[in-house]
Amino acid sequence: MPAKAYPHLLSPLDVGRTQLKNRVIMGSMHTGLEDRFWHYSKLAAYFAERARGGVALSVTGGINPNRHGWFYPLAGTFNRKLDIRNHRKITDAVHAEGGKIALQILHAGRYSYHPFSRSASAIKSPINPFKPKAMSTREVKKTVRDFARTAELAQAAGYDGIEIMGSEGYLINQFTAPRSNKRKDEYGGSAENRRRFPVEIVAEARRRCGPDFIIMYRLSVIDLVPDGCTHEEVLALARDVERAGADIINSGVGWHEARVPTIVTSVPRAAFVEATRQVKAVVSIPVVASNRINDPDLAEGILADGYADAISMARPLLADPEFVNKAAAGRSDEINTCIACNQACLDHTFELKRASCLVNPRACHETELVYLKTAQPKKVAVVGAGPAGLACATVAAERGHHVTLFDQAERIGGQFNMAKVIPGKEEFHQTLRYFGKRIERTGVKLVLNRRISEGELEQEGFEEIVIATGVTPRMPAIPGIDHAKVVSYVDVLTGKIEVGGRVAVIGAGGIGFDVCEFLAEHPRDGAQPLPEWLREWGVDFQTQTRGGLVEKAPETPARQIYLLQRKTSAPGKDLGKTSGWVHRATLKSRQVEMLPGCQYDRIDDHGLHVSQDGKQGLLEVDHVVICAGQESQRDLYRDGEARWHLIGGADLAAELDAKRAIKQGSELAASL
Ligand code: FAD
Ligand code: NAP
Ligand code: SF4
Repeated sequence: MPAKAYPHLLSPLDVGRTQLKNRVIMGSMHTGLEDRFWHYSKLAAYFAERARGGVALSVTGGINPNRHGWFYPLAGTFNRKLDIRNHRKITDAVHAEGGKIALQILHAGRYSYHPFSRSASAIKSPINPFKPKAMSTREVKKTVRDFARTAELAQAAGYDGIEIMGSEGYLINQFTAPRSNKRKDEYGGSAENRRRFPVEIVAEARRRCGPDFIIMYRLSVIDLVPDGCTHEEVLALARDVERAGADIINSGVGWHEARVPTIVTSVPRAAFVEATRQVKAVVSIPVVASNRINDPDLAEGILADGYADAISMARPLLADPEFVNKAAAGRSDEINTCIACNQACLDHTFELKRASCLVNPRACHETELVYLKTAQPKKVAVVGAGPAGLACATVAAERGHHVTLFDQAERIGGQFNMAKVIPGKEEFHQTLRYFGKRIERTGVKLVLNRRISEGELEQEGFEEIVIATGVTPRMPAIPGIDHAKVVSYVDVLTGKIEVGGRVAVIGAGGIGFDVCEFLAEHPRDGAQPLPEWLREWGVDFQTQTRGGLVEKAPETPARQIYLLQRKTSAPGKDLGKTSGWVHRATLKSRQVEMLPGCQYDRIDDHGLHVSQDGKQGLLEVDHVVICAGQESQRDLYRDGEARWHLIGGADLAAELDAKRAIKQGSELAASL
């Protein structure tokens, strides 16, 4: 084994009167398993797997201290002794693996999705239809006691500590910022009064739980909303929570209603650590950095450069529970990196579905999707090394099967090779690096540059044949579709053609949006540099303006682009719940003209003729890029024979994404 690869990341950290074995904290993520006690065995397995993988301290998803704080009706609440036994399952499982665990206490305030919500003042949030009732002074004091009571119960249930959720725009933020606090009592008005509520919570929790219990405070290091806290107010709150008894401060970035992205894949890695550094400079307790930190080298650099004392990673540990052990063993190139897509984690949470992970479908399904070693190794062929075939081949080989993976292309990855060239999707490279390494480690025989034709595999003695040949772009029946101006997104993204200065993109699905981002950006090597990204979204860590916001300075677009669809609904309406708004805002800032309700009349030398609301028009463009969905490629498949299987796009092209492709490939492999 090599010498310690990450001397800062892997060194112990003193927190209050306890010690963490390294600097990796698994940040709080709502998994959807917190709300019902009968899911607690699954939750225990989920946390235990991360503790076994080397995480020093995990933080649970947000648990409410009382019913008013529910994020949605009947959300997980911990305010009765009766629940101690259920939580014990989790704490015992984590301790058995040598880890520590803290319970996050969260009151949603005006983000509560029910009509009985409470907040500092009766001001509705722009992202919630329910208007909260303002808490009376008595209610505020009762809520302080409720937080402390949950802390006491957590201690009784064996948790090593709590995290008090004071960021992302939840109740505590609603008190600290003038945006949502117009109170006239001792909890409103001056900045000191506005921070009284969190400071009292910390003090009361400390009084009840004694000195040995970890109290972590999740501080909103930058609010990113108009009328949020100033920089000075954030620092003053940090000092006050330290004085009140917090042992460690975690970073939260931006309110949920902020119009600045904070975790999606286009946010540069570690974009907000400067705000954490500023907090670290004014307190003596450890301070934790978070948001878009998904790589051990990056984490090590943040610690080595003094930006923080520990790193909180949430989604990266969904993606790879063995992150820490792999880093420690000098195998960081084997880490299954979180690509910050939000597709299976946060999007699921907001759809009230159980969270998982696009690149690791076992996440939150540890007891259900199990890759057992096979007692009967078989000879398996997988045709197609896109996400579906890669997942299937590597899981089958890990289980002990003899797998040959064929692809006609010169590299693995299928359509992911096009996704990774989209500006802001550079992380998608990581998934292909991971699968490349997995192929090596699991012993899959990889055969590239080989197109399999019908009947070809019959004679080779394969006991299982998996067709993962994906999709081909659909070419719609528009008059003039064969015109030289017409190109497919594949031609554009593989660099086969040079696109002109005026372009029409037909089809406003995920790929249409991506193609517009690709065409609107001036070419550059690698990801957008952080200073440019901060200017584009109007974020400034030094400003005295509230929320850390300044005027946005978007880039000038590289081309004039029209994005068209036939539906009359708003283009991009069906994109990911937590990322779609970022794509829409980006195209708006690039002056892409979106045209819903189009009928495509014809394409000729003049351009694209379209009708909208019965009115005919002409878009004088150099190219028309077709992004009109895809069709399955499944000619090789033999229906009705048990040894033949279809997965990914080859199985179903409609609403296909890599989440489904990888999950289906993994599940099939687990069953072979
Ligand atoms: P494919 O990726 O199409 O792979 C099929 C493979 O089979 C190919 O490598 C092909 O060469 C090979 N093959 C085909 N026929 C043969 C044959 N006869 N012999 C040998 N080999 C053969 N999805 C998301 O979830 N999130 C995103 O953000 C996202 N962004 C995208 C952006 C772009 C620009 C594009 C184009 C796609 C994006 N996708 C995204 C979609 C995602 O890439 C696909 O859903 C996924 O790749 C489908 O996986 P698959 O394995 O079924 O098929
Ligand atoms: P898509 O989302 O199904 O969009 C296809 C678009 O083409 C639609 O806007 C549709 O709109 C239009 N269309 C369909 N049939 C047409 C026809 N016959 N003539 C003209 N227009 C037609 O598919 P996609 O954009 O190709 O994406 C494929 C999959 O990749 C998606 O399902 C998505 O999940 C995944 N993906 C995801 C992301 C992401 O960021 N999460 C990014 C890229 C891709 P109208 O019918 O209204 O015209
Ligand atoms: Fe990361 Fe995407 Fe997995 Fe969520 S679903 S953990 S964002 S890779």
